[in-house]
Amino acid sequence: MSDDEYEIVVVRYGSRDTLRSKVFLNYEVYGEADGPIQMDYYFWIVRNDRRTFVVDTGFSEHEGLRRGRSQLVPPGDALASLGVQPNAATVVVTHAHYDHVGNLDLFPRSPLIVPSAEYAFWTGPFGQREQFKHAVDENDIEHLRRAHHENRLRLHTGSALLAPGVRMIELGGHSPGQCVLTVNTSEGMVLLASDATHFYEQIERDMPFHIVADLQAMYAGFDQMNELVQENDAILIPGHDPAVLERHQPYSREFAGLAAVIGRRQPVARSDAAMPASAG
Ligand SMILES: [Zn+2]
Repeated sequence: MSDDEYEIVVVRYGSRDTLRSKVFLNYEVYGEADGPIQMDYYFWIVRNDRRTFVVDTGFSEHEGLRRGRSQLVPPGDALASLGVQPNAATVVVTHAHYDHVGNLDLFPRSPLIVPSAEYAFWTGPFGQREQFKHAVDENDIEHLRRAHHENRLRLHTGSALLAPGVRMIELGGHSPGQCVLTVNTSEGMVLLASDATHFYEQIERDMPFHIVADLQAMYAGFDQMNELVQENDAILIPGHDPAVLERHQPYSREFAGLAAVIGRRQPVARSDAAMPASAG
């Protein structure tokens, strides 16, 4: 595997059933019947022989319990069984909502790449207003503040390479500094959209999510992602769609229903493929 090509492991650590009217913004404007929709919770590992990025870290167990969401697998256990050494990984934060930056304590010494606009917003006055605040866990924001004081935060703006083959792009919309990543893999370019689109349907049918900081930016983000996909023939991975695991190869039998892989590293080390005894 060359230096600028990566394996992406998509880890599905949580799931819940909800309603279409609760996920799409102002669903009534479409004049469609309401119905059930499954919303899955993911984080992503982007790695090759030289580097490992952990893209978002899932929600913490206590914050999940508080919101009535349970984990299918604790993110820390999944990372360990997938062979991720926290101290050798760089954490990339796509945005600071509770389901993306819980569990940062698993990475006490890692550099954290955080959108500058996210950090400024959530440590500023408007992040405290109820309609914004409900999407974050104050403990996570405190963690980011501490990491900043420890000089572990790398603040990101605009579009920049994090390493050869990995680009971070700020779109805003869902959250003030919402970012996406493009990653080179042996299957082509992958666009890790995170919550710039939660579901395939959103970007395909131009339907914004109900949690939105800037609606115009969210629509512009859809346009920019569609362009990226078309120009590069890229594979789009939305942030919460259960279909991601149906469309991509399972990571291993042990991780059936929990992890998919894109651009698999060859050969897979034995230790990567097995769940630990404690989780079996
Ligand atoms: Zn999310």
